[in-house]
Amino acid sequence: MDKLLSLSINNVSKLLADNSVSPQLVTSLALKRVSETKKYNAFVTVAEKTATESAQRSEKRIKDKNVLSELDGIPVAVKDNFCTRGLKTTCASKMLHDFVPTYNATVVERLLNAGAVLLGKSNLDEFAMGSGTVDSIYGATRNVWGYEDERSFHISGGSSGGSAVAVATGACFGALGSDSGGSTRNPASYCGVVGFKPTYGLVSRWGLIPLVNSMDVPGILTRTVDDCASILNVIAGHDSKDSTSRPSYRKIRLPPADKMTIRGLRVGIPAEYHGQYLCREVREAWNEVANLLLQHGATVEQVSMPNTEYSIVCYSILNQCEVASNMARYDGLEYGFRADENSSTEKLFATTRSLGFNEIVRNRILTGNYFLLTRNYDKYFTKALKVRRKIADDFDRVWERVQILLTPTTPTTAPLYSEFVQKTNRDQCALHDYCTQPANMAGCPAISIPIRLSESGMPIGLQLIGRNLSEPMLLAVAKYIENVVQFPHFVRKF
Ligand code: GLN
Repeated sequence: MDKLLSLSINNVSKLLADNSVSPQLVTSLALKRVSETKKYNAFVTVAEKTATESAQRSEKRIKDKNVLSELDGIPVAVKDNFCTRGLKTTCASKMLHDFVPTYNATVVERLLNAGAVLLGKSNLDEFAMGSGTVDSIYGATRNVWGYEDERSFHISGGSSGGSAVAVATGACFGALGSDSGGSTRNPASYCGVVGFKPTYGLVSRWGLIPLVNSMDVPGILTRTVDDCASILNVIAGHDSKDSTSRPSYRKIRLPPADKMTIRGLRVGIPAEYHGQYLCREVREAWNEVANLLLQHGATVEQVSMPNTEYSIVCYSILNQCEVASNMARYDGLEYGFRADENSSTEKLFATTRSLGFNEIVRNRILTGNYFLLTRNYDKYFTKALKVRRKIADDFDRVWERVQILLTPTTPTTAPLYSEFVQKTNRDQCALHDYCTQPANMAGCPAISIPIRLSESGMPIGLQLIGRNLSEPMLLAVAKYIENVVQFPHFVRKF
């Protein structure tokens, strides 16, 4: 791999600005890297032609001293559940396998307007329902860490596994994921990259194909926290097309790591995040970082968030209810897959939907509709909303004592694919999303940063959670830790 691809966005941007390298060179190296790393199955569509053209336009802008932003000429990837004009957007589902949107999601539009070069669309679990990127019509995405061969590899995490792997391989400098229950942070943790879920509403959801509207946020995957801030600064901010969009956003400027201090920072360790599946090595890394913060002048105290354990089941009910409603639009009439069936409209709907969705999506639709039946509505949906409130209250209460929470991102390192797929989708999510889902319930921002490698060479990530709109502080603390731990990106040849 060319060393250029391992640099930070900021460094490449400087090299581009002083003409040491050209956007066309960077893009062609990135495209070459995409094809070299094909076996990991990170991309479902590669936009070679449009990427090359956009690198040419960037080249011209640099010559004319008309640079649009720090992202001008920087190759990025976008999860395949964000609409991209003229470029297939499949949600890794047969239902949308040939869907070509006529518009860009707001975040995509903003990246392109900032001059970023869109390399292609990345793999995911069908309609972002999963925690492994194993249930995609394009096949599983493979983790680069611990990869032996086609029979022995670890999951990339999910559902934004394609984006995480694209960043980890050096094929791109940053990628968009989506995060409804952990889908950006979970693969980031498994693949040794940074995964950030912003405050709900800070980044527009318009053009992101919905999973759980009340929790979905576009997420960011990068190798460094600074790169994450650079992308956030481009995509965040009010969007009149998203009614849940926040009114304003102030760009984040992170100070250099050696100019930062965490003296006086109040850090909470939520006891309930130990969960029953937390493995020894993740627990040790968690303790180490807590001690590190303490040694560097922060106060670290244990806090209690008693409703954490209800999060998985509560999320699952709300997820299925919202899924049932969101998926109603796929009926074979307007767009997407249409079954070869013309005996009646009802039959067309039924056949299209049973052939177009995988079993996981179909199950969620069925269960969701069951929960939403008049006779069940209060028992399930209304009750889950009340529990969600309690989970969010836990956060509000904790913010009276501490400014930030330090937790594991995932209870273990990335499991082997062969072991992971023994479990049902429901059990996969229950185990792997345990530490990530609560933040989606409360809407608060959270970031997973890579800490170190386990004894068997797999990345271990930890999560920081802050109160709503605390991004500047959250990213600064993440950068501080990142600088101390120095995660070994690219130590493995892949
Ligand atoms: N694993 C969870 C689910 O399947 C979360 C997915 C996500 O965040 N997109 O619903």
